[in-house]
Amino acid sequence: MTDCVFCRIADGDLPSRTVYEDDRVLAFLDANPLAEGHTLVVPREHHEVVGEMPDETRDAVFATAGRLTSVVESAVDADATSLGMNNGRAAGQEVPHAHLHVVPRFDGDGVGPLHALEWPRPDLSDDELDAIAERISDDV
Ligand code: AMP
Ligand code: ZN
Repeated sequence: MTDCVFCRIADGDLPSRTVYEDDRVLAFLDANPLAEGHTLVVPREHHEVVGEMPDETRDAVFATAGRLTSVVESAVDADATSLGMNNGRAAGQEVPHAHLHVVPRFDGDGVGPLHALEWPRPDLSDDELDAIAERISDDV
């Protein structure tokens, strides 16, 4: 996809501060970081959302993000990391090439947990919870 910014980075047509790459995955610094060391992990192939990736690609993206957490924390002397993915437009995804955010966190940074997003929490009965769990477990 020549009009996709992350495909262009993967192809070497756009500059990036790439910190890791292999035949399936690359990771580079976010150009507009939420914190110093904010890194994006993307599949080399164009997939819009994580559910569209073949298993090996998805495994490589998540494994790379997992390995990066402690490395990135050390690099910027962070105390923790938040891992996050805006997976689809309704979830706030702006670049339609799947990517996992690795965001360094610091004691006292005041940002709060991912749960601090303003979720309109649903009020679900036990039956509704059971039904949802069944639909997921039947298909996974
Ligand atoms: P999202 O809202 O999850 O789609 O996040 C897209 C992220 O991509 C944002 O954090 C942007 O700062 C980042 N971004 C967009 N263009 C570039 C680029 N050329 N190089 C690095 N990061 C980028
Ligand atoms: Zn792409």
